[in-house]
Amino acid sequence: MATKLAGLNGKTVELNPETLQAFKTAFKGQVLSADDAGFEDSRKIWNAMIDRRPGLIARCTGTADVVQAVRFARQHGVLSSVRGGGHNIAGLAVCEGGLMIDMSLLRGVWVDAARRVAQAQAGCTLGDVDRETQLHGLAAVLGFVSATGIAGLTVGGGFGYLTRSHGWTCDNLVSMEVVTAAAQVLRVSETEHTELFWALRGGGGNFGIVTSFEYKLFPVGPDILGGAIAWRGEDAKQVLDAYREFSAKAPRELTTVAVLRRAPPAPWLPKEVHGQPIIALFVCHSGKVEDGEALLAPLRKLGRPVADTVMRRPYAQMQSLLDATQPKGRRYYWKSHYLAGIDSRTIDLAAEHAGRIRSPHSAILLFQIQGALNERPAGYSPAGNRNAAYVLNIAGAWESAADDAVNVAWARECFEAMRACSTGGTYINFLTEEEGRDRIEAAYSPADLGKLAALKRRYDPDNLFRHTKSIAA
Ligand SMILES: Cc1cc2nc3c(=O)[nH]c(=O)nc-3n(C[C@H](O)[C@H](O)[C@H](O)COP(=O)(O)OP(=O)(O)OC[C@H]3O[C@@H](n4cnc5c(N)ncnc54)[C@H](O)[C@@H]3O)c2cc1C
Repeated sequence: MATKLAGLNGKTVELNPETLQAFKTAFKGQVLSADDAGFEDSRKIWNAMIDRRPGLIARCTGTADVVQAVRFARQHGVLSSVRGGGHNIAGLAVCEGGLMIDMSLLRGVWVDAARRVAQAQAGCTLGDVDRETQLHGLAAVLGFVSATGIAGLTVGGGFGYLTRSHGWTCDNLVSMEVVTAAAQVLRVSETEHTELFWALRGGGGNFGIVTSFEYKLFPVGPDILGGAIAWRGEDAKQVLDAYREFSAKAPRELTTVAVLRRAPPAPWLPKEVHGQPIIALFVCHSGKVEDGEALLAPLRKLGRPVADTVMRRPYAQMQSLLDATQPKGRRYYWKSHYLAGIDSRTIDLAAEHAGRIRSPHSAILLFQIQGALNERPAGYSPAGNRNAAYVLNIAGAWESAADDAVNVAWARECFEAMRACSTGGTYINFLTEEEGRDRIEAAYSPADLGKLAALKRRYDPDNLFRHTKSIAA
């Protein structure tokens, strides 16, 4: 019986059993169809709002499998998508009816402590990389939640607790191995295929499938000073006002994230605030612990905190403090702006819309990123946005499809109200499924967007890698 797959041109591609068998024979990993064991697990991603079913899932065991999958998609005109950690809010990892090229079995990490670099396969999570690099007291610039995939994060930009010191994740790449749309295997770096190297540092998944990343590493920990301090929601404006001043003056080793939400029933928060509005500051001082103690003392004395978990702790633990708030399988809808700073209007709007949150899991987050990324020249990497000081994420999260409309409406209203505080730029990795051309364009400078479109025509003229926030003009 013929296998039907979604094609690149919107038509159905019919494959006879011999063709499918030839692909399976050339492929070392598993090629899963809907009734195979493991199919459901592989197709499900972090955001339960996305419920697409690929026609086939190719679970790659190495670069040669990726080459086979690209050749197959290309030769038969099959729609494909690439799955790294499956954490993209828009569900870009999964295409409906096509071929999902699943990289998530590729989780090797090799650290060269003397050269201060780590090579990580593209199916790694952030936690996989931190686990290995921290053995040497080193760390790559990664994000805040350990189950996130390194691949999507890095090709879209990437920011975390070390961004203030070192810039975007993609600004700190040494090299990558890539399988192109022509199924060629290339090593890209500052001296090899330099334009493709540039495009992959923020241009999203448009330009090829990265099979491994080589990251610069920096001395961090293994112990740092970090944790969270929480206050009641009624103190939100006072805390945000202090946060504005404190974070603007803080040295780059100190990164702070403000979170406005209802208190989860977590053991670090007193029972009497569970379910009540709170504001929490997550702080990470990646320099000397004693320096961090002195720096954070005034913040810890501010007002009447209801909880304070700031302590000496392993950096790898700090990197997963937010994990429990972001489980796989909830319904998620985000809207996001870059901010050049925080002013009283930002504070008033954030406090007002936090007061209107509809779900116990939703939050408004302000991630401080200002520092090294602002100093790189325009055009250094397409991640760009070198005027950004904070990322505002309006993060809707809830359990039931029946609550979709109210929670999406909350996020959209907050986003519209806070548009006036935005630089106008946005983060490609935080764009939801519905966000289109105007928001993709907002993620890049016009010059970088033009360069990316030209490189897309050169490296992927048929737009094989289209299940992305597409750069194709
Ligand atoms: C809970 C949570 C926390 C987050 N925290 C942060 C954070 O702290 N900092 C931050 O910067 N971002 C953060 N993000 C956003 C994150 O960067 C994006 O969601 C990113 O797409 C996740 O990467 P992934 O590999 O898990 O994505 P997937 O959903 O697997 O893939 C998304 C897209 O990435 C591309 N892609 C995946 N693998 C490859 C590959 N091997 N080669 C080329 N392209 C590929 C493809 O276009 C794919 O369609 C967070 C997301 C979540 C859900």
